[in-house]
Amino acid sequence: MTGPARIVVVGAGLAGLRTIEELRARGYEDQVTLVGAESRLPYDRPPLSKKVMTGELDDTSLRADLGSLGVDARLAETATGLRPGLLSTDAAEYAFDALVLATGAVPMRLPGPGPQSVLRTLDDALALRARLRPGTRLSVVGAGWIGAELATAAAARGCRVTVVEAAGAPLAAALGPAVGTTTAAWYGQAGVELRLGQKVSSIEHDGIALADGELLAADVVVTAVGVRPAVAWLAGSAIELENGVAVDSRLRTSVEGVYAAGDCASFWSERYGRRLRFEHWDVALHAPEVVAAGLLGGDDVYDPVPYVWSEQFGRMLQYVGWHGDADQLVWRGDPATDRKWAVCWLAAGRLAAAMTVSLPRDLLQARRLIEAGVAVDPVRLADPGVAVRDCAA
Ligand SMILES: Cc1cc2nc3c(=O)[nH]c(=O)nc-3n(C[C@H](O)[C@H](O)[C@H](O)COP(=O)(O)OP(=O)(O)OC[C@H]3O[C@@H](n4cnc5c(N)ncnc54)[C@H](O)[C@@H]3O)c2cc1C
Repeated sequence: MTGPARIVVVGAGLAGLRTIEELRARGYEDQVTLVGAESRLPYDRPPLSKKVMTGELDDTSLRADLGSLGVDARLAETATGLRPGLLSTDAAEYAFDALVLATGAVPMRLPGPGPQSVLRTLDDALALRARLRPGTRLSVVGAGWIGAELATAAAARGCRVTVVEAAGAPLAAALGPAVGTTTAAWYGQAGVELRLGQKVSSIEHDGIALADGELLAADVVVTAVGVRPAVAWLAGSAIELENGVAVDSRLRTSVEGVYAAGDCASFWSERYGRRLRFEHWDVALHAPEVVAAGLLGGDDVYDPVPYVWSEQFGRMLQYVGWHGDADQLVWRGDPATDRKWAVCWLAAGRLAAAMTVSLPRDLLQARRLIEAGVAVDPVRLADPGVAVRDCAA
């Protein structure tokens, strides 16, 4: 398969690696250079807040054989600038005929002079885990996906965990307050103190300064308030940025021959008629298929029904779809009493999104209805005794 003679991929995470695997799987035989800021070979991040943090896993390597993939890997090298046909790093310059941006995202930090950990890299995870001993007072800022998973693991390690959240409910940004609030009770059941509606003003040497003047003493503070796409180095280049690298539905940037995928890319979704950016493993896994196809002359469209999962407090949460346009919530089961339940978002009568708690079958069936774009009967959907697939109106 022919394509551009020299392809450079920036970012040696899942999206970067998958791009190269897809190129080779499609028969591309020319030169591929992979530039990655971390010194490690590509590895998986979801276990960092789960099995790595509990101590069940040390190595999350994606087991990529870069040698047999024929990759010129430039690890521990950071891209710093882009000019037409030329990528600059802190160590070298690379001429390219096509470029893939897969630089992921970087955690946000809070103001203040005190030490704050973040959880993005395997090194972050190993360093943090070493400090989480029985009795350690851990304060986590942010009750999002990662804050909840970290609290779960740290409590299991015997730490005294407090989670401080500015919103009135956990997961409020991801799921909205009505659904997020159903997870609040899980914290207390796991022995974790959850403090909602508490704004942090700064991280101090001995803990967290709250906006109301209280100092929350802590041995370890982890800031888990979200990430920003890792695109600062592209400022001033010809690449259009809009909440990350702006790409079209084929994952093409504003510069010909330059693509982007994964956490760093906000793509035009034909399905939802708007630009979206997800920080989901599933996106980094599949979007590179479209990038590779495009690089080799294809015209594939990236138009996923988004999917994300989280393992927290002994439960498997799975979310599929996008509820930005939803106007109705339908509960399947009672979150207050049931160990397994689901909630569905409807938009103009159609199933738009679903979150399941330890109900993978409901999730799969919901995904199919969402993909089909069919209207559903909310009364049947509210009955956990009726299979989700039988709820089409
Ligand atoms: C702790 C944790 C738990 C998670 N759990 C889940 C989960 O349960 N479910 C789920 O769906 N998703 C989860 N995610 C999200 C998922 O891991 C990400 O969506 C995925 O890793 C994105 O892959 P990526 O390749 O786009 O970016 P990344 O994995 O961030 O890789 C990007 C790489 O590019 C490098 N880079 C950045 N800038 C430069 C530069 N200028 N030059 C060179 N290299 C650069 C970075 O160092 C990094 O190695 C989790 C993420 C974290 C951090």
